Amino acid sequence: MFSYAGNIHIHTLYSDGSASVGEIAAAAASAGLSYVIITDHQTLAALPEEGYYGDVALLVGAELNRNCNHYLALGLLVLLPENETDPQEMIDQVRAQGALGFIAHPFEKGSPLIENGKAYPWTVWPVFDFTGLEIWNYTSHWRGRARTIARTLFWFLFNRRAAMDGPPAEALRLWDCYIQSGRRTVGIGGTDAHAFKKRLLGLIDVDIFPYRFLFKTINTYICLREPLSRDFAVAKRQIYGALGEGRCYISFDQLYPGKGFSYYCRCAGAPELLLMGEQLPYRRGLELQVKAPTSRSRIRIIHHGRLIAQADGAEMLFSPPSPGGYRVEVYYRPRLGRPRPWIISNPIYLT
Ligand SMILES: [Zn+2]
Ligand SMILES: [Zn+2]
Repeated sequence: MFSYAGNIHIHTLYSDGSASVGEIAAAAASAGLSYVIITDHQTLAALPEEGYYGDVALLVGAELNRNCNHYLALGLLVLLPENETDPQEMIDQVRAQGALGFIAHPFEKGSPLIENGKAYPWTVWPVFDFTGLEIWNYTSHWRGRARTIARTLFWFLFNRRAAMDGPPAEALRLWDCYIQSGRRTVGIGGTDAHAFKKRLLGLIDVDIFPYRFLFKTINTYICLREPLSRDFAVAKRQIYGALGEGRCYISFDQLYPGKGFSYYCRCAGAPELLLMGEQLPYRRGLELQVKAPTSRSRIRIIHHGRLIAQADGAEMLFSPPSPGGYRVEVYYRPRLGRPRPWIISNPIYLT
């Protein structure tokens, strides 16, 4: 089995980011990523620049809509117009192109300190037939946590990890509802990387969250049965295939790198392993097997929104008692302080 770290939801100079496609690829390479996905606002201008940059596969989608209902469309061939009033129509049009669609930062809260509290949440529910949800968005999360200048500055200067207290509970609840209703729904993480430049005291330009920094925060790892191809067209199919099926997990790498996490379902006597995102008829004798990258882990099994088992350590085996979607959360246990949300897997579906 092969896993590859990547970063999703990145803006370039083609919208309101602050770097070129080539500069972003270089930042991704120095952060050790295998793939990145550019999603500029309402444009596919970067599409001709798709390809391999050294070892980094750079893919181009778009972030559709501006004021609300932001939708990450990956694999679009033709740009779609904004459609904030009927996002279901947009979801259906993205699907009709064979592209993937992820609802971006659905519960964004905004901050009284930024843009007068402006936020860009998803406003129309329920919607159906989207690929998945952006469960955890680094920039959006920071916005929501920035309530006072003093605390925000303290976190920004001394402890950026402390502001990241796990994916929004509403996002996890919504995801679990879709999973429980039998709709396969993929969870991804994003950074919403812009590397905004701010001039401080009229003198020095400061990058707020540079690309290379963000590429070590919330990453989405894809799981493949074959190595990632060096042929870009094949690699693109592999990456979108894994994201489309949910063969992927989110990791807050700033806490501890998520490389080495695995989550399988095994059936006694069968050689084949079922990966996250995949589906199998439920039967007795199935075993869920979790491996975390460090023994400083707390592994939690979540079944339809309920924590049904947990264990401290680097490994866990669990026999699912009933059908349904089973996903895994791993908390990192620091030497001091309480365990922190770190890795979020996609579910294995036992139907
Ligand atoms: Zn957005
Ligand atoms: Zn964005």
